[in-house]
Amino acid sequence: MNYQELETIAKECGFTHTALLDCSTIRLLPEVRAMCASDKCHQYDANWACPPGCGTLEECEERIRKYQWGILVQTVGELEDSLDFEGMKETEAAHKDSFLKMDKILQKQAPGRLPLGTGCCSVCKNCTYPDAPCRFPEKSVSSMEAYGMLVTQVCQDNRLSYYYGSGTIAYTACFLIQ
Ligand code: SF4
Repeated sequence: MNYQELETIAKECGFTHTALLDCSTIRLLPEVRAMCASDKCHQYDANWACPPGCGTLEECEERIRKYQWGILVQTVGELEDSLDFEGMKETEAAHKDSFLKMDKILQKQAPGRLPLGTGCCSVCKNCTYPDAPCRFPEKSVSSMEAYGMLVTQVCQDNRLSYYYGSGTIAYTACFLIQ
């Protein structure tokens, strides 16, 4: 599979912006992990796809260094104002929907892919963490942040905007391809 084919799939799945991802630009930062540990999203130590369940920074690094390239995918939505939470939720839902659609396609067309999404894994209503193994390791998805990525840095280093102006919101994810 080449980048053009991947980009076509991403657009068909509904993403608004894409960019070729050079995996050598990815840096995994302890500071991002520290943000997870502050547990603002209440998923720290509560989900197999989030820290510490998704592995140490070193283990995440070992996984991503098997990849040379991939694709960054974004959904940019318009907001009525900075308090338009409904608009934010709608854009987030559209982004998750596109992500799941694309991942389903790539399960067949790029079986060695590593999908890294937005937010915690929500495949199950209640995650089995930490009492039992993950129910669906093939479907479970960690976020870019859970792996220690600073999304703005990854976007910048791959010539993809992250901020599209006031009145917009952008959600970003990526797929690493073997
Ligand atoms: S697939 Fe289910 S058990 Fe596995 S990480 Fe996601 S929510 Fe948890």
